[in-house]
Amino acid sequence: MVLNSSIRYATDSLCIDEVDIDAIARETGTPVYIYSLKRVLENYRRLRSAFARLGARVHFSVKSNGSLAILRALNEAGAGFDCVSSGEITLALEAGARGKDIVFAGVGKTRAEINFAVSKGIGWFNVENVLELRYINEAAAEAGVDTIGVAPRLNPQVEAKTHPYMATGHGAAKFGLTADVIREVLASQAQYPRINFAGIHLHIGSQLGDNEATLSAVDKLLDLIRPWPQIRKINLGGGLPVAYRFDETIPSLGDFVEALAPRLDGYEVLLEPGRSIVADAGVLAAEVLYVKRQAGQVFYIVDASMAEMIRPALYGAHHEILPLRKTEGDMVKAHVVGPVCESADVLARDRKLPLLREGDRVALLTAGAYGMAMASNYNARPRPAEAVVAESGDRWRVSRRREMISDLPGLEL
Ligand SMILES: *Cc1c(COP(=O)(O)O)cnc(C)c1O
Repeated sequence: MVLNSSIRYATDSLCIDEVDIDAIARETGTPVYIYSLKRVLENYRRLRSAFARLGARVHFSVKSNGSLAILRALNEAGAGFDCVSSGEITLALEAGARGKDIVFAGVGKTRAEINFAVSKGIGWFNVENVLELRYINEAAAEAGVDTIGVAPRLNPQVEAKTHPYMATGHGAAKFGLTADVIREVLASQAQYPRINFAGIHLHIGSQLGDNEATLSAVDKLLDLIRPWPQIRKINLGGGLPVAYRFDETIPSLGDFVEALAPRLDGYEVLLEPGRSIVADAGVLAAEVLYVKRQAGQVFYIVDASMAEMIRPALYGAHHEILPLRKTEGDMVKAHVVGPVCESADVLARDRKLPLLREGDRVALLTAGAYGMAMASNYNARPRPAEAVVAESGDRWRVSRRREMISDLPGLEL
């Protein structure tokens, strides 16, 4: 069975590239996130070539996975970065990015973050508040920076086909500026002498189920900027979907680019994908602690929980789960749950799984995006280790050590 080019069974062992996942899990302990750098780079290059006819520059969305090992690999492959905080900017710089390779987005940038970004030579701000423009202008003047590139983020008031928590482009969302506000801003450019309004930004959500909403948003965006021919850069945001289920089909990237190409002819295009680059390059390995059968139900209680992977609890997200050692024989319908004291701590409900026993290990698939990035210390659980398999596919290392209980009380006075 081939799951993707990097995560697959070799005989009976679930492997990540050439490495047996169970061998990693035995050495690092569980739960552990494991990423294939090969798959990350493959996904990045696939996007780059799909969008090549638009000449699109890809900025990896650091919020989806801030692992320095991944950021370094993407930086070396030529990616830029999309950051939403000073912390993420610091990570991108640490990974080797230059300020001009970073776009700084976010609906609530603090003045300190704006000053920090300007001091680091950040090339581009996606702006979501009118007052932000004044702050950026003042920060540039103070730092002696002549001009800073700004792209107002359009809230196109379209409904994206995705989970409500992942939709950002409708009228009731806090994100972006509506077209009327952007028109006013562009008409008052003289107030911001240090700002170069050379671009426009759009991001209507994540895990987008069809291309229609994006295309309709792009049409609105083109209508909006028509009177300002100096706006030459269009940032289409991220949101490209991945298949979380074995039987799931996602909208074709080729069709999407085909539909975009005539519209965006002559523009410089930027993208900010996160999920579509890292999600299917990562797994979360966990061990079965207990098998509980009661009230006609089967529970596999594993040592990973909503603290390490919140997506099922937060979005009702589906992650496929596979045993690290393939077994023939009976399947059961089971719930895979974590140890956290919350009824929402369910990683998979009513899932057809092989008969597992205490000590068996499993992998939660497509866990590379918004997994570790959203992990918390809830229930005073130390956050898990991360391991990466090198691009060569046959070597791996721990890239971030598991937190220790002694790390936890460190900030308390
Ligand atoms: C979250 C986010 C992204 C990345 O979204 P993905 O769905 O992971 O591709 C890109 N741009 C902005 C502004 C975001 O908020």
